Amino acid sequence: MADKKYDFATDCIHAGQEPDPITGAVNVPIYMTSTYAQDAPAEHKGFVYARGHNPTRYAFERAIAALEEGVNGYAFASGMAATATVLELLPAGSHIIACDDLYGGTYRLFERVRKQSMGLEVTYIDIIDKASLERAIKPNTKMIWVESPTNPLLKVIDLKMVASFAKEKGLIAVTDNTFATPYFQRPLTLGFDIVVHSVTKYLGGHSDMIGGAVVMREAGEMNDRIKFMQNAIGGILGPFESFLALRGLKTLAVRMDRHDASAKKIVAWLKQHKKVEKVYYPGYGGMISFVAKATLDDAKKMLSRAKVFTLAESLGGVESLIEHPGLMTHASIPAEQRKAIGIDDGLIRVSVGLEAPEDLIADLGNILR
Ligand SMILES: *Cc1c(COP(=O)(O)O)cnc(C)c1O
Repeated sequence: MADKKYDFATDCIHAGQEPDPITGAVNVPIYMTSTYAQDAPAEHKGFVYARGHNPTRYAFERAIAALEEGVNGYAFASGMAATATVLELLPAGSHIIACDDLYGGTYRLFERVRKQSMGLEVTYIDIIDKASLERAIKPNTKMIWVESPTNPLLKVIDLKMVASFAKEKGLIAVTDNTFATPYFQRPLTLGFDIVVHSVTKYLGGHSDMIGGAVVMREAGEMNDRIKFMQNAIGGILGPFESFLALRGLKTLAVRMDRHDASAKKIVAWLKQHKKVEKVYYPGYGGMISFVAKATLDDAKKMLSRAKVFTLAESLGGVESLIEHPGLMTHASIPAEQRKAIGIDDGLIRVSVGLEAPEDLIADLGNILR
């Protein structure tokens, strides 16, 4: 972990990002090139073709690896491309144990793509203890896939317990760390093998790009395979997005601080509101879900009144977003399953941005009126 040197906030700004050796430019240039000149056949500077090699992408990959305290980072065109590439570690016919309250796109990839293309089997469970994992394990189980806090119910999973179970059973342990970000938790230090990110969310932080990342805990076969597949499959992050991701990362620590402080104020306000039945908040971060005393129709009307909050999918940007998981982000999960895991008609999810919390609270007051 060559680039982890200082406190987290310092590494956000400097890890993997030396000033340009030729000009001294303090920011990593955007290398818009598809190929690199060679001095003689097969004599080159380590850069051959840009699917495999790009200095802007490398800088972001070093930065995210340092922040997650892993050995290597790999950047992808989207969180889903990162997830899809990680799944390629598994042989056909593998079984995964996943948390039951999963990002809708991950669920869709498991159920509607990989089930067909690789005979993937997935068991979705409420991961509460080792016994719950033990009950789900099968002879062909190869991987455990968790998100913590989960989405949209923001349940917190005991990552240490999951990692130690995975190690005991020889399973690959993966955390999708999009919601917490390495500011709040670093699963690789708790024994996870792989961290996946949607860079689109907090890491990018400005709702202006789509990107994904994979970070590996250890050098070795699995790390080499991900590196190989990043190039072989080709779902790479482009140079411009890599620059935006780097630019976003620089302010990750201060942004997370503010997301967290504002969300805590909003949680306290929601808890005493008469139209709020239940508030889900993991105790940190900028994501809040709550159940409004509302029918589906009421909820639709409420959300249409948002002014400071933008009614939109996604999360983690400077602007506050509000959404209805049942109708929006989690609509791809079948209705019975949504109900079973608690995605109610009145469930509303907010991503608290960086606006003044007073304005956000006033807007929520109008939404819930
Ligand atoms: C958005 C998201 C993804 C998918 O990432 P994209 O960048 O949209 O492809 C995966 N996991 C979580 C938790 C997400 O929020």
